[in-house]
Amino acid sequence: MEQNLRVPGPTPIPRAVRDAQAQPMINHRGPEFGELLRETTAGLARLIGTDGEVFLLTGSGTGSLEAAVVNVLSPGDRVLGVSIGAFGDRFAKIAEIFGAHVDRVDFEWGEAADPGRVGEYLAAEPPYAAVLLTHNETSTGVANPLRELATTVRAAPGTPLVLVDGISGLGAMPFEMDDWGVDLVVSASQKAFMASPGIAIAAVGARARAAEASARMPRYYWDFREARTWAEKGQTPWTPAVSVLSGLQVGVATLEAEGRERTWARHAAIAAGTAAGLEGLGLALVAAPEHRSATVTAAWLPDGIEWSALGAAMRARGLVVAGGQGKWTGRILRVGHMGDVTWEEIDAALEVMGEALSEVGVAEDGARARDAGRAAYEAAARTSVPV
Ligand SMILES: *Cc1c(COP(=O)(O)O)cnc(C)c1O
Repeated sequence: MEQNLRVPGPTPIPRAVRDAQAQPMINHRGPEFGELLRETTAGLARLIGTDGEVFLLTGSGTGSLEAAVVNVLSPGDRVLGVSIGAFGDRFAKIAEIFGAHVDRVDFEWGEAADPGRVGEYLAAEPPYAAVLLTHNETSTGVANPLRELATTVRAAPGTPLVLVDGISGLGAMPFEMDDWGVDLVVSASQKAFMASPGIAIAAVGARARAAEASARMPRYYWDFREARTWAEKGQTPWTPAVSVLSGLQVGVATLEAEGRERTWARHAAIAAGTAAGLEGLGLALVAAPEHRSATVTAAWLPDGIEWSALGAAMRARGLVVAGGQGKWTGRILRVGHMGDVTWEEIDAALEVMGEALSEVGVAEDGARARDAGRAAYEAAARTSVPV
């Protein structure tokens, strides 16, 4: 049975990406690789909205978070970690482990970060070297007001560096790195870019690059200075995940062919439809409408329903959605809709979810939920498609 893979990464990989990943191996110190590296980084820079550098590192998204920290910070640096969920916690923890002095502004899980509160905190404290922000919190399905947060940080005493975990938002949700004043943003191949896991992405602006020279955290594998030296020769310092990079090139080209605004509008419309469909199934959504992510929708499990039973009932019907993370394990479900996703796949997911809910004892009108989802999707698609 073909799976409808609806987790927030890894995401389904389109046929063309799969074919690219299955090509014969090439020399990673040869000219074809140089072209692959240059084209993919140039496409990513356009998608992210930066004239700065993009480095492709072999590793998972967490590796790119570590790279962000160790390349621009020193032990003892004052860093503010702004967290709204599990991934914000992870970013702060990495900085702490490498010796930064990390203060935290934590918001309730399910809420977005409030730029006003972050601004007040920054104004009351001695200057921070950097602020760690999450674009889209995958563990709760909440999108942060990243532009406002970045503006707030840039206006704070000492003008801290703006370091962003953009792993589950980049490509799928509006992001203008240079215009918004983001100094460093990271992502990974297996989220909206539709390739297999294995390539970590780091976009580095001028201020972050300048900070590298004085940064004293230990680094070797993730050192941007090495990546830069080798990129000039069309190579990476260490053997990269060549096959994944070939897939990533096609994923990036696919997004570029669709066009940024169109991709963003597609994700927003599918998110609106997913939200309405889940509500139609009687599930309460985690995030308030104005903070809902365009790439992952989280809903509370009905009272008395075990995630293990519900998840198994879905899997038996070919649908794979994610459960909760960290302290929300067993309390929520999360439907991923980033990258290669159409309304038909969400519609099919809603149908299966209705059946699975019935199987575990929650009577649901699946047909009505699907109609509600489709209506919300179509309404959003009509109003948000750019001219
Ligand atoms: C997926 C994800 C990560 C972790 O990426 P890995 O590839 O699993 O290491 C970090 N942050 C966010 C927001 C994510 O969605």
